Amino acid sequence: MRLSFLGDSGVGKTCIINKYLFDQFSETHNTSVGIEKVDKKVKMNDGNELKVIIWDTAGQERFKSMSTNTVKGAQGIVLVFDITKKETFESLPNWIKETKNIKDNIPIVLFGNKCDLLEESVVDNDEAMKFAKDNDMDYFETSAKQNINIEQGLKNIIDKAYETAQEEDGLDLKKPQKKKKSKC
Ligand code: GDP
Ligand code: MG
Repeated sequence: MRLSFLGDSGVGKTCIINKYLFDQFSETHNTSVGIEKVDKKVKMNDGNELKVIIWDTAGQERFKSMSTNTVKGAQGIVLVFDITKKETFESLPNWIKETKNIKDNIPIVLFGNKCDLLEESVVDNDEAMKFAKDNDMDYFETSAKQNINIEQGLKNIIDKAYETAQEEDGLDLKKPQKKKKSKC
């Protein structure tokens, strides 16, 4: 299974991934280097073990240059904004639109990152929750720095992506085997 991280530059995507995969946190913002295709084994509720591959985006943060492959090849999206920067919240509708244009039914989870800086927050928690709900996403306030909700948020999207992938496979299996009568 592949997950892609999307969201404006500087919101903490790379830090969240590093925390999740390596339990590391860095204070520096490295815009040029992104992690690609590092995988982690995750045990699912049904006993299956999944290999989860995480795609970071680096230098592709602007919609126009966003690689469609980042979305096309993924089964789930982690969309991240920074609770201390309003503009990163305001650009979410564009990220969602862009993503849905590429892959309409892909599950998305929303992370409001840097919740360790709660006193600097400019995005109201209720507002973020409502926005998430209206867009059919679950919402997590996260901190890569203090390791808050990273595991839980990732678990949420991995479960959803797994479910969606199974439903889609299931539909394929249920496709009628008989040839359809051709219409005249
Ligand atoms: P990206 O461009 O979305 O990949 O952002 P980065 O992961 O490179 O993070 C950008 C900056 O935000 C870096 O200076 C990080 O140290 C900082 N940062 C990332 N996550 C957090 C967090 O949870 N809390 C705080 N206080 N800073 C963070
Ligand atoms: Mg980055």
